[in-house]
Amino acid sequence: MGFLADRLQRIGESATLRISAKAKQLIAEGVDVIDLSIGEPDFPTPENIKKAGIKAIQDNFTHYTANDGIPLLKQAIINKLHHENGLEYSPKQIIVSTGAKNCLFNLCVAILNKGDEVIIPAPYWVSYPAIVNLAKGVPVFVKCPEENGFRLQPKDFAEAITPRTKALVLNNPCNPSGAAYAREELEEIMKIAAADDIIVIADEIYEKLIYDGLRFHSAASISPKAGEITVVINGFSKAFSMTGWRLGYAAGPAEIIAGMNLIQGHNTSNACSISQQAAIEALNGPQVDIEKMVYEFHRRRNLALSRLRSIPGLSCAQPRGAFYLFPNFSAYFEKEHDGQPIRNSYGLAYYLMKQAHVAVVPGDAFGMEGYLRLSYATSMDRIDEGIDRIAGALADLVPSRRARGKALNNTITAQRTFVETDTMVNIEMREALAAEAEATFTHDSYYEWNVNIAGVIIQLRTNSPHLNEFWVENFYPAELEAEIEPHGIIYAVKGATGREARAFYNADSHTAFFFNSAYYAQLRSLAIGIVADISQKISNSQMMNAACFETNGRGALLFFSPGVSRTSRIAGLLKYGNCRIVSGDLTFGRISGAGAIGECVERKLYLRTELAGYLASAKELFERSKCENVVTSKDQCENEACIYDDTCDLDKGEPYCFIASRNSRVMLDPYWLGGPERHAKRAQLKTVLIFTEDSGNSAIAKIDSEQALKILEDGRPTAEAVSARSRPFFNPHLLVATSERLEQQKRFYKKLLASCECHLVNIRSAEPEKIARQVINIMAGSGTEVLR
Ligand code: PMP
Repeated sequence: MGFLADRLQRIGESATLRISAKAKQLIAEGVDVIDLSIGEPDFPTPENIKKAGIKAIQDNFTHYTANDGIPLLKQAIINKLHHENGLEYSPKQIIVSTGAKNCLFNLCVAILNKGDEVIIPAPYWVSYPAIVNLAKGVPVFVKCPEENGFRLQPKDFAEAITPRTKALVLNNPCNPSGAAYAREELEEIMKIAAADDIIVIADEIYEKLIYDGLRFHSAASISPKAGEITVVINGFSKAFSMTGWRLGYAAGPAEIIAGMNLIQGHNTSNACSISQQAAIEALNGPQVDIEKMVYEFHRRRNLALSRLRSIPGLSCAQPRGAFYLFPNFSAYFEKEHDGQPIRNSYGLAYYLMKQAHVAVVPGDAFGMEGYLRLSYATSMDRIDEGIDRIAGALADLVPSRRARGKALNNTITAQRTFVETDTMVNIEMREALAAEAEATFTHDSYYEWNVNIAGVIIQLRTNSPHLNEFWVENFYPAELEAEIEPHGIIYAVKGATGREARAFYNADSHTAFFFNSAYYAQLRSLAIGIVADISQKISNSQMMNAACFETNGRGALLFFSPGVSRTSRIAGLLKYGNCRIVSGDLTFGRISGAGAIGECVERKLYLRTELAGYLASAKELFERSKCENVVTSKDQCENEACIYDDTCDLDKGEPYCFIASRNSRVMLDPYWLGGPERHAKRAQLKTVLIFTEDSGNSAIAKIDSEQALKILEDGRPTAEAVSARSRPFFNPHLLVATSERLEQQKRFYKKLLASCECHLVNIRSAEPEKIARQVINIMAGSGTEVLR
């Protein structure tokens, strides 16, 4: 519905939450699920801590406290950091927050400017990239492979640093891999960070859970300089089994802590007063429960590790901390069960849940495909039984018959929605933008290509291979050089430093600029906008945001008001009718003495891949076409309607899903839909159909051309149904929409509509198939009876 902020696109639903929700659902249905997806200790909060909490309530310590934490707790934290970690802090350098997660969030919001890069070693805890994205930073992932024990290598860290690098996240010990760093390893990493003044976000929440005699060292303790650039993040969730009490803290440079304090003051205020009192006891009281817990976790890790390593084909690095194992299951991919292939970690996790009733989290969610995260925060018996079940289910897999490579030609772009277009660029600014674009292009990364869109020549100048590829594929070529001056130019610039993703248009020179986005939908829209701008001046032709079909030699233009699913309606016609598609969303109209003509100006149709959800035969065609932003893992799925659906393709191990996002596109050759039987280049227009969601009782009503003109001009179905997305003539591509231009368009549409029969189609009043049949009849000129 468009209520949500764009930034939500950058964060996925947590796979851990989804898996444990599914596990809980099965348990509620009476299934004995062994949950190895758990992210918290299975031990109760120690008694002395609970008592301190109860006392706080009895003492009425139930009011706001100092924003950054009560002084006694801050002092206890200072003492802890001094005695255990050899760190010296003053109270101004400490903040207590509602969980370590809350500290991380406040910290990122406090230190990141838009576009600042944060290096995140992968595999990583799922929330790091989401938090960085929400704070408008850019996560930069550095792979830390199994053969390096999943530890960040100094060389890889150094190579990932750019002038925009602001921070490094160093999670020691690491969730999900259990990797932990020796002092010498930390020294090298901190030296590199110090040389470039990179802030080290040291998430040390698993500090106590460390095995094999390894000694924990805080990143801040490595050198005096390390102390100056590090913000230590810690909390009470793991060491004291206090997840639900929501308490964490950060220690670092006073300036940064003050920034976090400001943000916290306007967000959560102080952390829970009762939890703070309990936390004083946690830090100052006896620590024996921790020792017992670590001892138990160590035993469980040894058991789980030896059992996993005895499963054929599995490898598992020895975790040195935390309570997770991160084994490599990729030897089981491309195997199948009951004809259903396992293709990736999601597929395997789904299979284990269904077949073995064991809940585990796919490695892909942590930025490392091929692995699963298993938690041993459950009893020895349950671990033993869980691994038995996993081994049994793996043994049931057989080599896949369908192990044919299904590689999709799919480009994922960082920007997946439209960015703002500034259409008021003057000629001086145009010159400056062109100079900036040309300075960014290098001779060995430059593409230039002229296309012919309805007789208008547009030249693309770009350094984006993806945009160039789609551009060349989408439109008919025009000669390059050979004495041709383009009518319009688009500069599409990748990697322009210090710029937000944004588009510009200078109407005098018909020049557009498209900075730092490779989302082809917008480049295409700019091209259409320029062609519209040029052709608008000729009142006998227009670029229309309408689909066009032909049946029985008669052409029909189909306009869709905002909110009507164009794709499903088009699929409905292709599925049920003996009609030919001219274009899906872009029709060039010309009016001559002989009437109006609708024309397809594209070589390939740029369509939403969700079409495959409505038209089964399209799937195979899409698999052979160039695609953009097709979803390849479950955590990117935006189709809420099928998230928990048992028939989800991604869950079953399919490598991609065409219906998971409304922003994924395909470049389809319309002839592939059935040759000349199903595609026509142009059609003589006889009918105009305007699809709306609400237009009274009748499903399809004939209207006169004046009424049709009014609706098109308003860009919305009725005077009541005002939509934020409504545009004049339903055309979102218009770059110039002055009143004079709109008048010109109006004259065009007036002539067009007068030469056609016009109908209003209310999609809410009958089944889609019934409406599709009726629409086909109307288009064919053989059934104008009104559906009721
Ligand atoms: N960091 C890591 C690495 C974690 O695994 C977790 C919890 N799963 C947290 C931080 C958040 O802890 P808290 O409960 O204190 O917010």
